[in-house]
Amino acid sequence: MKVLIADDSLVALRKLEATLIKWGYEVISAGNGYEAWDILQQADSPKLAILDWMMPGMDGIDICRKIRANRREPYVYILMLTARAEKQDIINGLEAGADDYLPKPFDSHELEVRLRAGKRIVELQEELVQARETMREMAIKDPLTTILNRRAILDLLDKEYMRSRRLNSPLAVIMADIDHFKHVNDRYGHLAGDQVLREITARLTRSIRSYDSIGRYGGEEFMVILPGCTLANAINQANRFQHVIEAESVEYEGASIFVTASFGVTTFDGMMDIDTTQLIRHADEALYQAKKKGRNRVEVV
Ligand code: GH3
Ligand code: MG
Ligand code: MG
Repeated sequence: MKVLIADDSLVALRKLEATLIKWGYEVISAGNGYEAWDILQQADSPKLAILDWMMPGMDGIDICRKIRANRREPYVYILMLTARAEKQDIINGLEAGADDYLPKPFDSHELEVRLRAGKRIVELQEELVQARETMREMAIKDPLTTILNRRAILDLLDKEYMRSRRLNSPLAVIMADIDHFKHVNDRYGHLAGDQVLREITARLTRSIRSYDSIGRYGGEEFMVILPGCTLANAINQANRFQHVIEAESVEYEGASIFVTASFGVTTFDGMMDIDTTQLIRHADEALYQAKKKGRNRVEVV
């Protein structure tokens, strides 16, 4: 683990550096408070800091205050080294945001165990952040295809609809549904069906622009949101989808599975008097038309 050490005494700095390296830490040294603050601003900066309280210019307390005022994540665990061991000094240090302190000259063993306590806290914090990110992902992503789930794509539709209204810019929605997908499951099995869904999703995802979004709206039904896209462009996009799906088979355990899909396209011009519910209804209606007219085609409402 990386540790930032800051001390204006070069002798003290080198000694501390050697000690920490011996304990297995990766040490980043700063000869004054400004340098320490600069290091903490960099990407992937140390999450553990041992700061000398008294340094000319920016001292340890100043750094503590700035760190705590600036950000909450990632958490930087701060251990202050101080020659001032008056009760009021210690209170001030902790109040400024230090997590722990050690009077100078410090006892090496004490520093080692206190630093280990700090490392534990940093690691716990990292685990918590990681767990939260995983939860956030799980809440918005469909586990089979890893694209946005129904709720997330609908939330996004609301946002894009608002933006389109505000900017008076067009917004297109494409609803896609795999044709006769039940047959795929019946003939090749459910796992093959799952593989088809993953593969089709990958193809659709590869063929959209970076600012378009795709979500799994239902079992074998997808919603694509295309901000700033005119009707003509949306139809082109749907035609591309149709092509990338039918052009190549999906391979699964020796079987080559050919599938097609039907598409419903609709647009909002940024001004019309319709809401997202109606927009979805139009896309659904267009998709229904595509199914009714024989599937593997694009229809517009
Ligand atoms: P259509 O051309 O009218 O769309 O016919 P279809 O068979 O595709 O439509 P239908 O709605 O009758 O059937 C959809 C099938 O999709 C039924 C369901 O078992 C299957 N399905 C839904 N979700 C999944 C999934 O996650 N994995 C697999 N393998 N199949 C799924
Ligand atoms: Mg279907
Ligand atoms: Mg369906």
